Amino acid sequence: MGFFSTTKTIGILGGGQLGKMLLSTTRQWDLTTHVMDPSPEAPARIGCNHFTQGDLMEYQDVLDFGKKVDLLTIEIENINTKALAELEKQGVKVYPQAAVLELIQNKCKQKEFYQKKGIPTAPFQVFNSKEALKDAVVRGRVSFPFVWKSAAMGYDGFGVQIIRSNQDLETVSEGGCMAEDLVAIEKEIGVIVCRSVSGETVSYPCVEMEFHPTANQVEFVLSPARISKKIEEKAREVALEVSKAYQHVGLLAVELFLTKEGEIWVNEVAPRPHNSGHYSIEAAYTSQFEQHIRALLDLPLGNPENKLAGVMVNLVGAEGHQGPVYYKNMEHILAIEGVCPHIYGKKETRPFRKMGHITIVNKNLETARQIAAQVKETIEVISK
Ligand code: ADP
Repeated sequence: MGFFSTTKTIGILGGGQLGKMLLSTTRQWDLTTHVMDPSPEAPARIGCNHFTQGDLMEYQDVLDFGKKVDLLTIEIENINTKALAELEKQGVKVYPQAAVLELIQNKCKQKEFYQKKGIPTAPFQVFNSKEALKDAVVRGRVSFPFVWKSAAMGYDGFGVQIIRSNQDLETVSEGGCMAEDLVAIEKEIGVIVCRSVSGETVSYPCVEMEFHPTANQVEFVLSPARISKKIEEKAREVALEVSKAYQHVGLLAVELFLTKEGEIWVNEVAPRPHNSGHYSIEAAYTSQFEQHIRALLDLPLGNPENKLAGVMVNLVGAEGHQGPVYYKNMEHILAIEGVCPHIYGKKETRPFRKMGHITIVNKNLETARQIAAQVKETIEVISK
């Protein structure tokens, strides 16, 4: 490949925690990296060889950055895809490909893609404005309750709202959107698939997501998911079908709904390392980050199965605290067996900001889940 001579370089667009964790593999394997992020304090800055401050949505910034590297990847979806397409034309290897990213960036296009490919997903209708949606409600073509989703990228549920009345409808933002059926969800599960340049594909075991009751953020991720073998197989099969449809290179995190009726429906995907795969650093034979790098370099993919059960807790800023961050009771959680903290290195905390995560590994999933609850209660992300 020539990459191991370190004469060739990998560029990562986005310098958040996902980038930082990707860099633990590039450091281990002595691969040369460039990172671009708008913030000079980006968590990934310390792990890369070269850092560029730049706007990920600016055509010129992305183009200039991409020209410096042989292979370009992302750790966030909000990237200027026109620049990525131009870089592909100029011979830079861009993974995930610009076309895949463009499709995924628009939630409506993404859903229409599943419909076209016959991939199971919740029924939906697309509207090009809020007015058009309101009109459909008046005409009885859309009825309450439903889930409003903005076409443009949201993050952690900001572009998603359950609409139960005309009053709720008034609060959503303008612009293209969809009305999706409100699904009776039994469990939210996920499967991470990885596909290499030459098409070798592996899927990780299903994970189960537990949500924070008010913040609409994932609080615990359990691996393996507490589901039957039959559902596990079905979910992995659906995820592989999604991966095949996209023909992406690198990781694809597939978020799924297990419905009360036992159906598996695709919610959405992310073509990058994902929060639901952090457990794999300690609990799997091959972490999602190493797997992504293997795929991009067209190396053999690693074993995705678990060595141990893993439960991940997101470490988010406590309510009522804003300012320089302080991690209270770290020494207490480190005294517990199997507790592996990851601190992302963001200097300032805010309520519910993702500041780190903690993975608890154990031979027994239920024990790991109990310790995770204890860890969650003990550690506090505060500002003094
Ligand atoms: P985001 O991209 O902002 O994370 P998602 O589409 O993943 O948005 O939705 C966030 C959460 O909202 C989901 O994890 C789920 O809990 C809930 N949700 C989304 N779509 C539906 C739906 N059709 N029915 C019921 N709940 C939903």
